[in-house]
Amino acid sequence: MVSITKDATFKNYINNEWKESDSTKVLESISPMNKSEVVGHIQNSTLEDLDKAVQAAHNAKENWRKIGQHARGQILFKVANILESRIDDIAETMTREMGKTLPEAKGETARGVAILRYYAGEGVRKNGDVIPSSDNEALMFTKRVPIGVVGIVTPWNFPVAIPVWKLAPALVYGNTVVFKPATEAAVTAAKVIECFSEAGFPEGVLNFITGSGSIVGQGIIEHPQVNAITFTGSEAVGKVVSKSAAERGIKSQVEMGGKNPVIVAKDADLDKSVEAVISGAFRSTGQKCTATSKVIVEAAIYEAFKEKLVQETEKITVGNSLNEGIWMGPCASESQFNTVKSYIEIGKEEGAQLITGGEVLQGKEYDNGFYITPTIFANAKLDMRIVQEEIFGPVIALIEVADIQEAIQAANNTKYGLSASIFTSNIGSFLKFADEIEAGLVRINAESAGVELQAPFGGMKGSGVGSREQGEAAQEFYTEFKTILIKG
Ligand code: NAP
Ligand code: MG
Repeated sequence: MVSITKDATFKNYINNEWKESDSTKVLESISPMNKSEVVGHIQNSTLEDLDKAVQAAHNAKENWRKIGQHARGQILFKVANILESRIDDIAETMTREMGKTLPEAKGETARGVAILRYYAGEGVRKNGDVIPSSDNEALMFTKRVPIGVVGIVTPWNFPVAIPVWKLAPALVYGNTVVFKPATEAAVTAAKVIECFSEAGFPEGVLNFITGSGSIVGQGIIEHPQVNAITFTGSEAVGKVVSKSAAERGIKSQVEMGGKNPVIVAKDADLDKSVEAVISGAFRSTGQKCTATSKVIVEAAIYEAFKEKLVQETEKITVGNSLNEGIWMGPCASESQFNTVKSYIEIGKEEGAQLITGGEVLQGKEYDNGFYITPTIFANAKLDMRIVQEEIFGPVIALIEVADIQEAIQAANNTKYGLSASIFTSNIGSFLKFADEIEAGLVRINAESAGVELQAPFGGMKGSGVGSREQGEAAQEFYTEFKTILIKG
């Protein structure tokens, strides 16, 4: 087992061996709670390293397919047990590396275990259907088969859950993989891969390679022996993935950003809607793709909602996520921190009213971390950049509307369509919202963030292209059909 110590150097995992990059160079992963703390080093890999990883996956695919779904599921159960035994260490690494609070990091790692068990169970579930043939003496059926080598590229915001919800279905359905995590969370990802490596996959089935997005990430996307690509991350890179996959005629699944609305109707439960907006907007420092970022409030309840929201938001404790009692940690990286600060300035310039937060927390007790207090803008208008663009930080914009119809229009006034919520006690509004809202995840009296592993996950419009992730829906992406006819 690779040592689990702070500031260790993590290697690539290619053809069942931990290997240094040919470049002999490493990248640093630093803590957003103290930029002088190096959490670990990872390989700064080259295209030659990547080629070895893809070759290994390519050479392994025939045998892995032949092993069968049941046997593949059994190995995933082992990975789940190993990951479960390391929740504390992996969660602490995640907190140090990207700043999510320790309880959230533990919850996410436990979710990774549950996802593994779900897909391990797929080992014994059906992978096809019998379809009546027009010939009574023939048996016609479908069988799902693997695609081949799947390239996996992930972001830093869920460093355990996102890799696991791609790796586990890819593997159980019989694909081999080449996985590149986000550089900013690659140490956590390496620790997840240690769990996989100890479970006993055949050589070459699972390959892990770190390095820059523009070299290794782009290289995976363009490699001729990669047969499908699953990507989660920014819109800019997602578009490159879709385009490149389309040009090569291969499958791709791209999950991108969001600008997730919450509507608060005049008949909403005030306390519950305030609690849900705070949790949806500020947990994980607003860095969830499903985070609440615009709150659309009916005029009749606007002032009361605003007052209560500010009052509760000001109770949030911000600081080092390893400390007990801290509710919200830092932005995950310096670039994210700078982005959030710039949007706060943009909001002010655009004429939105900053009613709380927007402060950078500095000084000795904050160790040069990337801390910003939870920020609320009131009187926001639909054409403002803070209402249209994804900020990916602890910032929300309040928009006042006359009625539910206007609220739904305001909610849909975005290029994104990932998650959307409404708080109301009116059944007519439930139904209207469920029918008219343009979002892959539709939530009624529940916060915008929150995903269940057994249900389809993904967005409409600019938030996602390709079939859904998670639950049974994942099978669509990771398999192809054979339609088989047998005549006696
Ligand atoms: P990002 O910059 O797009 O990076 C995502 C991954 O792509 C990283 O592994 C990155 O590597 C890699 N990459 C960068 N440039 C690449 C290129 N030219 N070709 C191939 N790969 C490349 O996104 P991020 O900043 O990590 O994540 C934040 C974004 O992810 C937000 O926009 C958020 O909404 C989105 N997100 C969406 C979902 C969802 O399910 N819809 C979930 C979580 C996050 P490096 O790290 O080495 O640059
Ligand atoms: Mg970091």
